[in-house]
Amino acid sequence: MIIGKKRRRRPEKKEKAPDLETTSGCFARKKKEITNCEHVDQKFYAKGMCKNCYHKKGRTKPANCCPNKTMYSRNLCQNCYMKYYGKQRRRDNREHKLDEANLFAESDQDKSIV
Ligand SMILES: [Zn+2]
Ligand SMILES: [Zn+2]
Repeated sequence: MIIGKKRRRRPEKKEKAPDLETTSGCFARKKKEITNCEHVDQKFYAKGMCKNCYHKKGRTKPANCCPNKTMYSRNLCQNCYMKYYGKQRRRDNREHKLDEANLFAESDQDKSIV
């Protein structure tokens, strides 16, 4: 009988925290504070502004695709950026069907906000 015999077990490694948690941990550091806009209670985004104000004030260059629009990201206006990178997302969706529901939920939210 082996009852009573102590098995030596390697201490189990703690599961790695998902990347999301590590990044949010970085946000928890109060190094970056909002100083350029009045939305001090908002999440810091860039250049001392919240996300909203950064997109409004921080980026004033015209978009390459549509010069009458403000550049949103990668020299594209928000419209074209979403068109272009939205397609890439959908491709990813096909590859990772499990994530499909999540991503669709996200895009639905985006639509409601915009
Ligand atoms: Zn703001
Ligand atoms: Zn455009």
